[in-house]
Amino acid sequence: MRDTEPEPTLIPGRTALCPGSYDPVTSGHIDVIRRAAPLFDRLVVAVVRQPRHKQTTFSIEERIAFLREALADLDHVVVAGFSTLVVEYAHKWGAVALVRGLRAVSDYEWEFQMGHLNKRLGPDIETVYLMASPQYSFLSSSGVKEIAAFGGALDELVPSAVARAFAERTAS
Ligand code: ADP
Repeated sequence: MRDTEPEPTLIPGRTALCPGSYDPVTSGHIDVIRRAAPLFDRLVVAVVRQPRHKQTTFSIEERIAFLREALADLDHVVVAGFSTLVVEYAHKWGAVALVRGLRAVSDYEWEFQMGHLNKRLGPDIETVYLMASPQYSFLSSSGVKEIAAFGGALDELVPSAVARAFAERTAS
């Protein structure tokens, strides 16, 4: 497997960062990443190593591996783990924007706060919000974990590597 933290590099074009904990990545995340990818010369999917106040279900290596498998066909998408402030990490890659997905109104309050805080910390970086596609607007990592815990079908809700990982955990 490739390094979980590839060294940030600078390129001439426009780079954007798509930060999140991706615990685990869902089809909703993949949809936003795939829609954002053509808007930039490079998209860095930045996976928070250890989210604050949250024990992750999957390790950083697993979360990154799921994303890399699901996005393997996109040459200009890089998946990397990080453990600093988002804005600091965005600067390391020379990113001009952060990309976030917006589902229901409930996402708005948190995104509003984070958007302004990040703007204060990195005035040169804009946050760009993509509206969740209707078919994924109800989908969350925590919802997926709930379904998996009760043995429900995850088809179309998560990439196949994630569905396999849940099946293996249930079997063991
Ligand atoms: P965090 O750990 O920062 O809360 P997540 O890893 O859960 O973030 O998600 C990363 C980004 O993807 C966030 O902007 C979140 O709102 C967005 N997102 C999560 N699920 C979906 C979905 N089903 N459709 C669109 N965007 C989503």
